[in-house]
Parts: sequence; structure tokens; C-alpha cells
Amino acid sequence: MKIICLSCGHKVDLGDAYDDYAGQIKCATCSAILDIKTEAGGLKAVAVTRGRPLEASAGAAPVHEPAAVRY
Ligand SMILES: [Zn+2]
Repeated sequence: MKIICLSCGHKVDLGDAYDDYAGQIKCATCSAILDIKTEAGGLKAVAVTRGRPLEASAGAAPVHEPAAVRY
């Protein structure tokens, strides 16, 4: 039983134990929590429960510069 992680796109190998399963699994690549439902070895539903935290966008903070006025 392999699924594609919705968050990072990598394959997640769950093994045969997940051929009939409904619940949450964790992607080993990006640590996203996927809510999946499988039946007879087929994927019936998959949704991202918790994705990666968004990276803080560097440089978004305003840069304060001294208002130096030169004459
Ligand atoms: Zn992932």
C-alpha cells in the first residue's frame, strides 16, 4: 500500500497492514499528517490534516533606517 503525500508529493509506503485502514498516517518526508481511507488495497480518500508549518518569509519585516537628512 503506497500513497502519494499530498503535502510534498513523495511516496509513502504504508505496508500491507494498511490495505484496509481509515485514520491518520504521518509522512516520513515532510511530517504532514494525512487522513486516509483505504479499502481492499485501494485508496478511497486522502486529505491533509496538518501540513508543514509555513516558513516565515524572511525580509517581510519593514526595515527601519534612521531618517538621516543631509543638506
Ligand atoms: Zn509528505
